[in-house]
Amino acid sequence: MVHIYSPCLSINKMGHLDISGCDCTQLARQYGTPLYVMSEDEIRRVCRSYAESFQKYYHGNGKPIYASKAFCCKEMCRIVFSEGLDIEVVSGGELYTALQAGIPAKNIHFQGNNKSYAELEYAVKSGVGNIVVDNMQELETLEKVAKAYGKTVSVSLRIKPGIDAHTHEFIRTGQIDSKFGIDLASGEAMAAAKRTLELSHVILDGLHCHIGSQIMEIEPFVHAAETMLNLLCDIEQLLDVELEHLNLGGGFGIHYKETDGFIPYDQYMAAVSVRIHEICTERGIRLPKIYIEPGRSIVGEAGVTLYTVGTLKEIPNVRNYVAIDGGMFDNPRYALYQSDYTCLLANKASCKANYLATIAGKCCESGDLIQENALIQSPEPGDILAVLSTGAYNYSMSSNYNRNVRPACVMVSEGKSRVVIKGETYEDLVRNDI
Ligand SMILES: *Cc1c(COP(=O)(O)O)cnc(C)c1O
Repeated sequence: MVHIYSPCLSINKMGHLDISGCDCTQLARQYGTPLYVMSEDEIRRVCRSYAESFQKYYHGNGKPIYASKAFCCKEMCRIVFSEGLDIEVVSGGELYTALQAGIPAKNIHFQGNNKSYAELEYAVKSGVGNIVVDNMQELETLEKVAKAYGKTVSVSLRIKPGIDAHTHEFIRTGQIDSKFGIDLASGEAMAAAKRTLELSHVILDGLHCHIGSQIMEIEPFVHAAETMLNLLCDIEQLLDVELEHLNLGGGFGIHYKETDGFIPYDQYMAAVSVRIHEICTERGIRLPKIYIEPGRSIVGEAGVTLYTVGTLKEIPNVRNYVAIDGGMFDNPRYALYQSDYTCLLANKASCKANYLATIAGKCCESGDLIQENALIQSPEPGDILAVLSTGAYNYSMSSNYNRNVRPACVMVSEGKSRVVIKGETYEDLVRNDI
């Protein structure tokens, strides 16, 4: 049997895969495939465990911020905000989505390594709570924009702390050779802080780092917290300021495979908090507010994608292709970085999984695969294939390649389902064609 690890998944009496009380085969019948399915119950459970960890280990002095790039739509913004999280956006489009969802601008944090002038204007005009400045050039531009609108803007500085977080190099962002942030070791960070304090329309409120993604160990986070807090102390003492917060970014790992390790999320805060208390005592500064920015871990395991099996192609001594009605247009992650996934047939979930399959999409690219060497139940055309842990970076990375339409997204909770993103139509595909 395929190992099912997410708390929102189970196998029901019919032997079918169930997500938060909904039978996946029924969801596939009702809404069609491909279909993104997200468990609202699981999303809320993870949000609460993060929020509670701040109460338990850090006197509630700070909060989690949802990195909305993992899965961004209006309903998702509403759900996480209702759990007390702020929202992080990295583009004008994500900012627009959050504002349309009714999120107060002051609860929105704006990130990005190359924000355009128009995006900065939009953020300043809307009154976003904090802008994370990536580089000196942006700092000067932001000062001009804020001045033009007669506003002062709260900023934090994105710092490269130089931490190796042992993850795939495409999704590692804390080391020196990175397009993100201001270098710490060379003294650039201190210079940036100094410059920020000279400007009149930006207020230096904090420091920020984000050391990578899908990280399964606590040490890199503790090490990053230590490095960043020491920088914060240096800045406060040398430049005679008080910084409100330290944002330690996201990157907490999730299960994609049974063999993936797992650390309960509140342990991150527990470990980081101990070190922060120690350093603050040693260096004689008050505790800064702490922010963290989980994306993947909030929504990743809450999502499942359902497909219908089509063509089967067994190539003797080579491999068995199992083709599905989706592919890299709804999930490009295997094509991009050979991401692991657990796959199973939702309608045969309780059967033995001893068929070695290459799950292929329907796009005109040989690399359009969802998984290789996946052990699934014996497949037949018409079976419903479920790919687990697709809540993060699937819908948000989808495209219309080959003019495929983006699938609908359905949110499930306690046995009930509802559409939160409609599936695209062919009409949508030509909407902007002249
Ligand atoms: C992507 C990103 C996150 C979220 O990362 P996850 O791995 O999804 O938790 C947080 N902060 C920043 C700055 C990011 O770029």
